[in-house]
Amino acid sequence: MNRRRAVVVICDSLRRDLVTPANSPLLTGLAARATWFADVRSVFPSTTRVSSASIATGCWPRRHGLLGNCMLLEQPDGLHNHSVGKPAFREHLRAATGRTLWVPTLAERLAAHGGARIYSNVSPGAAYFHDPDAHGHVYHRAGSYGPGHVPHTGAQALDIASGAAGDAEMTERFCAMLLAGDAPTLATLWLSEPDHSGHGQALGSPPHLRAIGHAEACLARVLEHVGRLRERGEDVLLLVGSDHGMETVLGEIDVEQALVDAGLKDGRESREVVVAPNGTSFVLGVMPAAAARIPAIVEFLRGQPWCAELFHGEALARIGMPQDQSVCTLAVTMGHVDSVNAHAVAGASWIVADHADPKSYDGRGQHGGLGVNEQAPFLIAQGGGFGPGRVSRHPVGLVDYAPTILRHLGLPADGMDGEAIPFPDSSN
Ligand SMILES: [Zn+2]
Repeated sequence: MNRRRAVVVICDSLRRDLVTPANSPLLTGLAARATWFADVRSVFPSTTRVSSASIATGCWPRRHGLLGNCMLLEQPDGLHNHSVGKPAFREHLRAATGRTLWVPTLAERLAAHGGARIYSNVSPGAAYFHDPDAHGHVYHRAGSYGPGHVPHTGAQALDIASGAAGDAEMTERFCAMLLAGDAPTLATLWLSEPDHSGHGQALGSPPHLRAIGHAEACLARVLEHVGRLRERGEDVLLLVGSDHGMETVLGEIDVEQALVDAGLKDGRESREVVVAPNGTSFVLGVMPAAAARIPAIVEFLRGQPWCAELFHGEALARIGMPQDQSVCTLAVTMGHVDSVNAHAVAGASWIVADHADPKSYDGRGQHGGLGVNEQAPFLIAQGGGFGPGRVSRHPVGLVDYAPTILRHLGLPADGMDGEAIPFPDSSN
């Protein structure tokens, strides 16, 4: 039987409506030779680290336990907001909870079936939470490792910068790996563009469009190499997509200060009521000693003009989040408008001030919530039963990627929230 493999390419933050013949001729050309998905949604919070964990596990955050780009941990003196992006967060999480992700990743499931490798040029946390317990290989500038956390050093390390040049260098390494004798069953390439430029430039501006072009140039190299694998008879499922989209930032809201001013939080640095900012959304935790304040906090937040939707109690399950009194008492999406920016890109949202990330995003791209554009990643599937020239309107989520990959490999996808994506018939 021909060898079955899967190759995944993520163009971080590329929203579906920006995949057009003018912006991204390679992607639209690929879509014509593959299956295009018209109804793909991200996760909540729609951030890279959560997306990475959900793609890797096929589960929503309430099942895998990674609750944001920033996430609250309960420590002896109260709640602490941690950036999941930092290399050391994995060990903070293990120290606080005794584990990393709560469910197996694809790397773990494939360890005895040819293995998994990820090359990632986004944050260390997003790379590491694809395979936090080192069942496969993870290549990242902050440190690369193989099974058992054995470090890859020297020429095996991935010493690159975030952005287009680093993406290009990483892609060459990835492509060489694809053709090597020890190539894994699942190979994932996670590009930093156009996310890297979208956070620093207006969406649809010339530098942002150039960043989409850079991602396409990387994809072109991958397509060449996937073509060679197919020529030698390998049965390759290729998934090319993004993890979430972006909205234009209207401005920042200092939610913690607003809670202090309303008498609902003891002080800026107090640990009984703490916000985990996630761009256009936030998660709020309340320690048991302050639980009597929760109804007043809910009422206060619902009354704010920048609060779009508040999820509390059983409503958290609807967005894939746990009901956890301390680290996830409630979640809020920030206000959104449909206005169009100077480059004809629609959608803008308020974001939550993040004191650990002081740079301004005003007028630039951000994500994290449930806005229509940040919840509209793109997905193209080719091979492994996904035929050319098809458009699927079947609703697809990031949690469906892992079971789809496992189906192609002939392996079970037990215990996942997602389901293998149905093959569209030619009439769709
Ligand atoms: Zn992302």
